[in-house]
Amino acid sequence: MFNIKKFILKSIFILTLLSLIHINLESKSESELNIYSGRKLHLIDPLIKEFEKDYKIKVNITTGKADEFIERLKLEKKNTKADILLTTDIARLSRAKKNNLFQKVNSEILKNNIPSKYTSKDFDWFGFSIRARPIIYSKERINKKELKNYENLADAKWNKKICMRSSNNVYNQSLISYMIINLGEKRTDLWIKNLIKNFARKPYGGDRDQIKAIASGQCDITVANTYYLANMLNSKNEKDRNAAKKVSLFWPNQNTFGTHINLSGAGIIKDSKNYDNAVLFLEFLSSQKAQEIYTKKINEYSVRKDVEPSKIVFKFGKFKSDDKQLHEIGKEIEKAIYLSSKNGWK
Ligand code: FE
Repeated sequence: MFNIKKFILKSIFILTLLSLIHINLESKSESELNIYSGRKLHLIDPLIKEFEKDYKIKVNITTGKADEFIERLKLEKKNTKADILLTTDIARLSRAKKNNLFQKVNSEILKNNIPSKYTSKDFDWFGFSIRARPIIYSKERINKKELKNYENLADAKWNKKICMRSSNNVYNQSLISYMIINLGEKRTDLWIKNLIKNFARKPYGGDRDQIKAIASGQCDITVANTYYLANMLNSKNEKDRNAAKKVSLFWPNQNTFGTHINLSGAGIIKDSKNYDNAVLFLEFLSSQKAQEIYTKKINEYSVRKDVEPSKIVFKFGKFKSDDKQLHEIGKEIEKAIYLSSKNGWK
């Protein structure tokens, strides 16, 4: 038989239990922060450790491929646990923005610490480090005086001398996007067509592999991000160090629009459950302390003028970068992908 007393007691018990769980979750969420990171754990771990120590906020980090996180966030919507998406490349930050994943952040600290050219115009993503993508060449076989700019890499004289990674990679997609912005679509189309003719081998591997290919004599010239060369020069691995010593860096387009640069950055997820902690984390990333970790441990450039590059990056010298057009890069990415596949840059 139905026992009303038992039923009421049971209901009270369940309700009390549920409210306790709720309180527990709420108090837990106040000291937590959940990050989806497209950057590798060993790179951002020093930043996370400092933040946890200074702010007493527990950071839960999930690492993986940024593009997969973007797809995941689109599916998770309001149910997402993520508060922040951390990633490299302006094209990915723009993609996340385009998919409506970020929310506007009102923070005077972020506005003061990061120049506006390195943040989204709507203040919904922020650049925290800069990487440049110059020309890297063989010290032995290339006369520096013959290098000028990215356009020049398509000249017939470099036949079978160039190694490039795949155009499936966002770094080269952003580089092509930069070319479209500065040269126009038609000239970029022709540039890709002729550049591919100069490839010494099929696109293969990452930026580091292109540098190694120059060192082993497979090709003489590539385009790679600065921190790869710096990290190889600093490497514990003797082979990597020796390979890096065989190449040198050339800053292209110094008399025209400047060398292509890109950003790593982050934004706060629209349905973040720990918004305040997320703002604190972004503010921390823009602090002098965190920016020094970016330069010293990761060998990237700081977005702040008052933070110097690491010793090894300092030796690469000063250069003119194309930072006027950074916001436009994400807009031309689809065209960049189209042009590279049309011309067969695999
Ligand atoms: Fe990288």
